[in-house]
Amino acid sequence: MKLEDKMVKALKVKENNFGKNIIFSYPNKTLAVTTTGNECSLKCAHCNGHYLKNMTDINEIDEKMKHRNVDSFLISGGCSFDGNVPIINHLEDIKNLKNKGYKINAHLGLMDEDDVKKISDYIDVASFDILLNNETIKNVYKIDKKKEDYIKSYEILKKHTRVVPHICIGMDSGQIKGEYDALEYLKTQNPDCITFIVLIPTKGTEFEKIQPPKIEDVIDVICEARIKFPNIHINLGCMRPRGQYRKQLDKMAILSGINNIVMPSKEAIKEAMKIKCNIQEFERCCVL
Ligand code: SF4
Repeated sequence: MKLEDKMVKALKVKENNFGKNIIFSYPNKTLAVTTTGNECSLKCAHCNGHYLKNMTDINEIDEKMKHRNVDSFLISGGCSFDGNVPIINHLEDIKNLKNKGYKINAHLGLMDEDDVKKISDYIDVASFDILLNNETIKNVYKIDKKKEDYIKSYEILKKHTRVVPHICIGMDSGQIKGEYDALEYLKTQNPDCITFIVLIPTKGTEFEKIQPPKIEDVIDVICEARIKFPNIHINLGCMRPRGQYRKQLDKMAILSGINNIVMPSKEAIKEAMKIKCNIQEFERCCVL
């Protein structure tokens, strides 16, 4: 099917199930927190610890909250060598936040089941990067794990907490590799939401000079998801290239039946108004 036809079909699926509603998220009330400072043992090809630098250290939350109206947290951190995000070391801090009534979205990575059980009562949702291509795991994360390890971790998380799969489109040097396989697999798992993000070629990483995936290829994956999962929220998350790329991508994502765009471009807002969407604005992470 030609992409334009697929987009028309996908938009119709969305409108049949969600009408004209669309959410634009501006997560000003979600504070992104790192539990490992700037440290990450993996130094992945697409990140190299770069994004930890923009997060608040878990030990400095109180200070940060004096200046921001926060009602929720994204708790993350660098990975250990086995792909686990060791936020369990801060279980008491997380319990504290939960007991004070904050909403918590956590990156747990490939956490083992005992630790997942310990933490699951204190988080609202786990965001999980679902990676089902062995070559990508090797090229990007450089760890001795296979797609079965990701499947196992996803299913452990699902057993104990709400989990929203994140699919990074073009994660392996901008190429489309395991994205469709991930959708096939998720079809067997009935997720209540899927978040897409898109590789950003980031300065200081192995991928700084590569091109992000073609916008048409990203849209094809989003349309596929929309058609395969007619009743669940499909989000376009915060990590995606900026500038012209974002303007074009956001516009096309709206015309492909996306439910939620984080930090939409002005063009996205105009397009949503043009097709008479009912726009709602949220101030948290797109999975909360
Ligand atoms: S993609 Fe959504 S859930 Fe993940 S960090 Fe961004 S806003 Fe939060």
